[in-house]
This record gives sequence, structure tokens and C-alpha cells, in this order.
Amino acid sequence: DSVFSHVPRAPEIPIYAVMTACSKDPSPLKLNLGMGVYRTEDGKPLLLNVVRRAEEILVNDRTAVKEYLPITGLPEFNKLSSILIFGADSPAIKENRVTTVQCLSGTGSLRIGADFLAKHYHQDVVYIPEPTYSNHPNFFIAAGLTLRKYRYYNPQTQGLDFQCLLEDLGSAPSGATVLFHACAHNPTGVDPTLEQWEEIRRLIRCKGLFPFFDCAYQGFVSGNLEEDAHSVRMFVADGGECIVVQSFSKNMVLYGERVGALSIVCKNADVASRSESQLKLLIRPMYSSPPIHGAAIAVSIMKNREMYDEWTIELKAMRNRLMSTRQQLYEALLQRGTPGDWSHIIKHVGLFTYSGLSEEQVAFMTREYHIYMPANGRMNMAGLSLKTVPHLVDAIHAAVP
Ligand code: PMP
Repeated sequence: DSVFSHVPRAPEIPIYAVMTACSKDPSPLKLNLGMGVYRTEDGKPLLLNVVRRAEEILVNDRTAVKEYLPITGLPEFNKLSSILIFGADSPAIKENRVTTVQCLSGTGSLRIGADFLAKHYHQDVVYIPEPTYSNHPNFFIAAGLTLRKYRYYNPQTQGLDFQCLLEDLGSAPSGATVLFHACAHNPTGVDPTLEQWEEIRRLIRCKGLFPFFDCAYQGFVSGNLEEDAHSVRMFVADGGECIVVQSFSKNMVLYGERVGALSIVCKNADVASRSESQLKLLIRPMYSSPPIHGAAIAVSIMKNREMYDEWTIELKAMRNRLMSTRQQLYEALLQRGTPGDWSHIIKHVGLFTYSGLSEEQVAFMTREYHIYMPANGRMNMAGLSLKTVPHLVDAIHAAVP
């Protein structure tokens, strides 16, 4: 008998279950609005042209070797990533009080960030928005921290529940960490306005709470990398401390290359440097050092003006396609006379629309129309196209009373 015979089967991770069910469905009508990955108008995965060009440069670089990277990753990647999120003339960078380390995409950065807090921060309470990215609780639970939720989304208005957010954070214990999505909130597609961010910032600083930003969609809201970094930059401009996690999965379409970074913005250069020395101790027994290739692609693109510009054009094209898909879906529902107010479809930003469809309605649409999305009704707008909008409208029309 196996020494592991007692091991119980773990439940399937819900978003993967949706993907499996979809891939098994033989219907030519099937529509995959599940996992948050970008698709072209033809429903195909995308490789950015600028990424292809960067890879050609890397392949033809005869001086390239496959030595281990330092524990903290490619130094140039760290430098350029911090400039991307904090801005080229960020005082925090100039004063050397930011440490940025390359990690295994957003996920790995979140995990290292959570472990750092657990080991080196005095307050173990972490607030996450309700709802949030389904993996978020896991990082903080794995680190042994204490999770709490703050209200974020109002199902009645299908927008931000700003008063409740302020109330919940206002009653948080001093020093508590608060997780924010820098932009393009997953799963709701609802972000605070700049004025609301400013109010949140004042509350966080005046109560001595600790902000932790997850930035997985920089560029997907406005089409502009600088603009989408605004929330983070407000919290850095006030001179206070924060943690920021970046992912290049979406905005460079590098999902499988696992490219991302963790930054700790500190009060001074000495604390930043000591914090970095501790990050090495967390990383070393986990994976020793990160992989080279994806980070090298990101460096090629970010350090070359012309390639950087090409990147921003391709990024903007993705964002614009998402916007026009939203518009088409909204107009088609209006035209069809489907009961309900569907304006949230064009108000939500980023990759997702939090449709408001119930679990039963989603199950009905999957069963009768071969349309796949998670039970919370989150629709990946990139899974949709001009061609498939009518089918989705048929399904929604049949699902709502
Ligand atoms: N944070 C958020 C909000 C996300 O939506 C995702 C991906 N779905 C991630 C982090 C992690 O993605 P990755 O590990 O590919 O960077």
C-alpha cells in the first residue's frame, strides 16, 4: 500500500474546472469567457509583434549565456520595472528607497510579499476587497496572516461601494495591511475615481494602515501605462511606504514566461537595502533565482525607445478591442430589449465585466448555449468578438426574466 494512501483528493480549482468543461464541449457554438487571458478578434491567443522582435534579438545575441541570475533577478529588469510603475522621475527611486526584485510573475511576487509581511511586519491583519481575484486569499493564508475583507462592490449600483469601503477600512486595526488592485479590478472591472483614491489615500495614511498594491493590468484601463499607474504613484508621492506587485502577463502577453516584480517602497535607502537582503533569504530556499528569458524580453522592450513605443501601440490596440467589444455587447442587448440596465458593461474597465448574472443563470447559459464563465458571472471580454456577440446576447436574453 502507498505511504500516501490517506491523501484525500483535493477539490478542483473552480476556474480550471470551467476551462476543463469548456475544452470538453464539442459544440461549435461554444464561447469561452472564463480564464482571464487575452484573445484576438478571431478567438486566438496573441503574441505581441514587439515580443517576437525582442526574442529574435535575444536568440541572435551570441554573447548570451544561461548562467544563474542573482537571487533578486535581472538588475536591469528590476530598474526598468520600477520606473514603469513609479515613473521615470520618481523621488523614491532617485533616493534609492525602493527595492525591486524580479519574481515569478504577479503570483510569485504576491507570495514573496506576503511572506515578507509575515516575517517582518508587526501587524498580521490583511484586508482584501470583497470580491477579489480568487487566488488573493491564498497568499496571505499561506503566509499565516489573518485575513479580513473590506466591502468593495455594490451589486445594486454595479459600481464601487465607496461608503462601505471607507467604513470598513476606517474601523481596521492600526497598521493593518490593505490590498488594492492598482487598476482594472478583478473580477469586478470597477475602479475608484482619482478623487476617491485620494480620499482612500488620506484614510490609509491618517490611520497608519499599510497599502499593498497588486498591479496586473497596467495599461488595460486607459491604454496608457503612465495613467494606469496613478493610484500607486499617489501613495508613493506622499512619502509613505507601500508594497507593489507587478505582472507582465497581461500587458506584455507573457503569461507563461512568468515575468513580474515585487517592490518595497521604504522611508529611506538603508531600510530598503536591509529589506532586500531579507527578500533574498525568502527566495533562496524557494527557487534560488528566477528564470532569465521572459525578463530579458521585457528588458529589450523597455530599454529601447522605439520598441517601447511599439509595445504601447500594441497594448493600446488590445485595450481598444476590449472597449469596442463592450460597446457592441451593450448596444446589442439594448437593441434586443433585454430587461435590465446593462450600462455597467460599458462602465466596467479592463478585461472583465461583472455581469450580475446569477450562478443559476450562468449554469443555464452553459447548459443551453455552451457559454463558459465562472459562477460569479465574471465575463472575460477578450473572449468575445463581433461575430460571437449575437450568440451571447441570445443566451443572456433567454437567461434573464
Ligand atoms: N493579480 C491579479 C489581480 C490577477 O488577475 C492575476 C492573474 N489573473 C494575477 C495577479 C497573477 O497573474 P500572474 O501570476 O500571471 O502575473
